Amino acid sequence: MFYNGKEWVEFPLVSGDDEGFVNGYSIYDVLRTYSGIPYNLKRHYDRLKRSADFMSLEIPPLEKIKIILNQAKKIHNYEEFRFKIYVTPFTSKYKTFYCFVEELKEDVDLIEEGVVVNIARERKPSSPIIPYYVKTPLNGSIKYVHKKYDYYYDSIVLNEYGNVTEGTYSNIFYVSGGMLLTPHISSGILPGITREDVLELANDLSLEVEEKANVQVWELLSAEEVFLTHTSRGVVPVRRIFPDFTFTVPGVVTEAILDNWKDFITEKIED
Ligand code: PLP
Repeated sequence: MFYNGKEWVEFPLVSGDDEGFVNGYSIYDVLRTYSGIPYNLKRHYDRLKRSADFMSLEIPPLEKIKIILNQAKKIHNYEEFRFKIYVTPFTSKYKTFYCFVEELKEDVDLIEEGVVVNIARERKPSSPIIPYYVKTPLNGSIKYVHKKYDYYYDSIVLNEYGNVTEGTYSNIFYVSGGMLLTPHISSGILPGITREDVLELANDLSLEVEEKANVQVWELLSAEEVFLTHTSRGVVPVRRIFPDFTFTVPGVVTEAILDNWKDFITEKIED
């Protein structure tokens, strides 16, 4: 079922006047639940608002999103779900704001075995038309160019200087000499909400952490451990970067994060 801005329908009708559909002029955010409760709803909402402000789009109030989320929970009765919000320009005819709900099943293999990623050929410009903090399909075009093969879980994208930035829908962390590192925001990344939480948890666990500017590819490829972070799956260990750079799964530091992740999230939800 989809929420079409007014009601839940089997299929949303999309107008040819909708610039989000025709020209990709839209913003979005993806939420998920843990124990049926939305993870970091306010922070996701604030990010949607920042994206909306940049693109001069209007978004519904947070209270409205909460109502729709509750409806989604009742209609679908999923134990855990992923919730995508898309906002396109309002026109006199259409209120263009859509919500999609998908059941989210824990994928234990993903965490236990780790995933394979590659490095995208395409680079990110350092002065993009739309800043990287704006979550819009217009910023995600590399996803469609590079993630052609289902074989790779995600593609790591470098900036125009050849420094590591992030995946096409995830942030990246690596462990070197026992220290946890992740590319600095200045590298040109989306400041992921899961990334922020991993940094906070790592601090709580007294791990040595650095948000590092200008991470070179060799630093990543020679790391002991690598993992990705994104809302839908949380922390995802990487076992190989194509073609043959392999990493311990789960490494000591990744395991410490994974072992404490659910409790850390649950405590936040309870707060
Ligand atoms: N980087 C990009 C480009 C993304 O699109 C996403 C999420 O979709 C992320 C990172 C991870 O962000 P979050 O942890 O908030 O899901």
